[in-house]
Amino acid sequence: MDSEAGSVRLFTTSGGARIARLPLRAFPGLLSYAYVVYKDEYRILIDTGSGFGECNQDLEAGLREAASLLGNAPLPEGLTHILITHGHIDHFGGLPYLRERTAAPVGIHELDRRVLTNYEERLAWVAHHLNVFLIEAGVQEERRAQLMEMYLLGKQLYCSQSVDFTFEAAGMRLGPFEMLHVPGHAPGHVIIRVDDVALGGDHILDDISPHQAPEQLTFYTGLGHYLHSLGKAEAWLRGVRLLLGGHKEPVTDIPARIANIRSLHRERLQAVLDLLEEPHTIAEISKALFGTVKGYHILLALEETGAHVEYLYQRGYLRIANLSTLGKDFSPRPLRYSRQDPATPLPETI
Ligand SMILES: [Zn+2]
Ligand SMILES: [Zn+2]
Repeated sequence: MDSEAGSVRLFTTSGGARIARLPLRAFPGLLSYAYVVYKDEYRILIDTGSGFGECNQDLEAGLREAASLLGNAPLPEGLTHILITHGHIDHFGGLPYLRERTAAPVGIHELDRRVLTNYEERLAWVAHHLNVFLIEAGVQEERRAQLMEMYLLGKQLYCSQSVDFTFEAAGMRLGPFEMLHVPGHAPGHVIIRVDDVALGGDHILDDISPHQAPEQLTFYTGLGHYLHSLGKAEAWLRGVRLLLGGHKEPVTDIPARIANIRSLHRERLQAVLDLLEEPHTIAEISKALFGTVKGYHILLALEETGAHVEYLYQRGYLRIANLSTLGKDFSPRPLRYSRQDPATPLPETI
């Protein structure tokens, strides 16, 4: 990882909005972007970085540089609003830091609001469901304890913050900024559009496919919701020239990028179906799909696999092969999935 995050980059929209992209070292190995957008009387910050390690420092340096490039007001004091694209910590973790430095109201979609305002409760709830998911996925006890510890450690960085407004209540609009709800990667994920440029959060990223987790962990996520949202976004983004993401480089050919992400998930679903000619647990499928991965990536690979298995199971492609060995006490046990026989082929495009 670079010791410096890099410098601020400027973009301009067809309607004269000016956008500064702030590079932030969110976590070791993860570079994120926050954006300052000036349009009419609005001076908006979109996303905040993680609040972890050097991230607040990077945010402060980026805001200072953006203020000198865009003019008008010192930042963050002069911000009029802070908008959060979705409730993942690399996008909202800088809020406690910002709250001490600006009175700008904070907005997020209704379905992600509780992540910001009731963080501790939400963490406990997800941890409970994650533990059940890992048991059912067939992860061994020792490994499961390590993964749970890792999950909880990384999340103890934030303390709950108030939210001033929510997007649906505001009519999915703030002055010249329009929002589209795209649940999947997160329940309350939005894309924000200004003129011919969109700020896409993690819904569509260049180069990598946005992470998927099963809905079993968080309602309103899951691959089915995500793919549905991709279709909605494709229509809504017609005429948008540039999509600026929360990570990676800007996307210029949005339909091509969406088609690419779709075909990647289709291939992954097919690979799961092929493998499930014989019964396997999610942990075994994850290993076959992603090989040996380390640290937090083990959890990400299991969640990604779980999202694909859940998608297929919900749609009747799979069955649980070891139903008879499940206990009568209703406690979670490892599940082995297998393809329905005869196998139903996946549609050409999903
Ligand atoms: Zn995210
Ligand atoms: Zn992210």
